[in-house]
Amino acid sequence: MRIFKFGGASVKDAAGVRNVASVLQREGTENVLVVISAMGKMTNAFEALVAAYFKDEQSLKESLKFIEDFHKNIIADLFKSDANIHTKVNHLLGELTGFMAQNKSDNYNYVYDQIVGFGELLSTTIVSAYLAETGVENNWLDVRNCIKTDSSYRDAQINWEETAIQINTNVVKNTLNITQGFLGSSGTETTTLGREGSDYTAGIFAYCLNAESVTIWKDVDGVLNADPRVFSDTQLLHEISYTEAIEMAFYGASVIHPKTIQPLEQKNIPLFVRSFDNLSNKGTCVGKGSKINPEVPCFIVKKNQILISVSAKDFSFMVESNISDIFEKLDKYKLKVNLIQNSAISFSVCVDDKYDLFDTFYDELKVNFKIKSYKEVTLYTIRHFDQQAVNKIREKGTAIISQINTETAQLVIQ
Ligand code: ADP
Ligand code: ASP
Ligand code: MG
Repeated sequence: MRIFKFGGASVKDAAGVRNVASVLQREGTENVLVVISAMGKMTNAFEALVAAYFKDEQSLKESLKFIEDFHKNIIADLFKSDANIHTKVNHLLGELTGFMAQNKSDNYNYVYDQIVGFGELLSTTIVSAYLAETGVENNWLDVRNCIKTDSSYRDAQINWEETAIQINTNVVKNTLNITQGFLGSSGTETTTLGREGSDYTAGIFAYCLNAESVTIWKDVDGVLNADPRVFSDTQLLHEISYTEAIEMAFYGASVIHPKTIQPLEQKNIPLFVRSFDNLSNKGTCVGKGSKINPEVPCFIVKKNQILISVSAKDFSFMVESNISDIFEKLDKYKLKVNLIQNSAISFSVCVDDKYDLFDTFYDELKVNFKIKSYKEVTLYTIRHFDQQAVNKIREKGTAIISQINTETAQLVIQ
C-alpha cells in the first residue's frame, strides 16, 4: 500500500480539491490510503471557535458562521447540485453544534479536541464526495476507529498495539481509502495528536500496514535547505537520511512533523516529499541512503522564543540540584526547551512558550533564583554549517548566545 498525505495548503479552496483529484488520478488510486488535513487554515478557525465557546455567545456565532461559509463556498464551487454532500456536511455541523450545546465539561483540552476535529471530518467528507462524483470510487474511513490513543487531549499518545489491530481491520485493501489526519480516539472521545499532526498520521498508517512508501504532497518542491518564507535563496534537498530528517525536525524545521520519521525508519519505509503543483519533479526522498544531498548548510528558524539566564541568589554554583529544580518547573509549565547553555554560575535556556504560561513560571522561579529574560528572540539553527552560513545569521542582529558543535551551530539573535 502507498500512503499519501495532503495538508491544509493542498485543499485550501475548490481548485485545490480538484488538483488533489487529478494528482490521485495520475499517481494511481489502487491500494492507496490518503490522509487529509483540515482545509486551508481551518484548524486556526476551529481554535478560535473553541476560544469563543469559552468566552461569549456573539463571537461563538461569528466563528461558527465563518467556518460554515468557508466550507459551503467550496461545496458550491465543486458540486453542481449534489444534495447528498449538503446532507453529510449539515449532519457534521449539527453534531458540532450539538456537542457545544450539550457539553458540560470545562476541560479546555478535552473540548478543544471534540471541536477542532471537525476540520478534518469536514475536509475528508468533501474530498471523498468530490472524488466519487468525478468517478473515483473511494472508501471514507473514520480515523477514530483506527488510531487509538490515551486521553492526553491535544497531545494524545498512540496505543500502538490496539492501533495496529484496528488499522488492519478497518482499512479496505485494493481500493482508495480517504481518512483524516491529526485525529484519534480514546474510548468514544476524539483526541488530537498535536498541531501539524497529519504527517504523523501518515507515518502511523504506513508503519501498521507495512506500506511501500509515504508521500507528503506540498506547495513546495520538497524539503528545502531553509524555510522559503524566511530565506530567498533556498535549495531543494534531493535526498536526506532518516537521522538527518529527525535532527531537522527536532530543531524545528516545520516541513515534516517530528514524530513522523521514527515509525518509518523502523520499517525502512521511504518518505517522499513532493510538489502537488509539479508532478514531474521528483522532490525529496527521506530514506536510509545518503545523509544529505546536496551537502549544503540547512537553516532552521524559530521565532518568538524566550531566553532566560538563571543564577542562584546566594552565588552558589549552578549544579544538579538547582538545575533539576529549574527543569521541574519548565516541565510543569510546558515550556519547550530548544537550547541549553550552562556555566559555573549561570544556566541559560531558550524556550518556546506554547501555552502562554511563561509569566507564571517566571514568578515561581524568581522566588529562589535571579533571572534575566529576553523575550521575542529568534533561534537560528544551522545544520552542516560553514563560516559563511554563520556570518549570514550574525548579520541579522546581536547574537546573545552562540553554540557550535561538530554538525550544528545555534545562535540566539535579538
Ligand atoms: P501543509 O498544509 O501541507 O501542512 P504547511 O503550510 O504546514 O503545509 O507547510 C508547507 C510550508 O512549509 C511551505 O509552504 C514552506 O513555506 C514551509 N517550510 C518551512 N520550512 C521548510 C523547508 N525546510 N522546506 C520546505 N518548506 C518549508
Ligand atoms: N489540521 C491540523 C493542523 O493544522 C493538522 C495538520 O494539518 O497536520 O495543525
Ligand atoms: Mg501543515
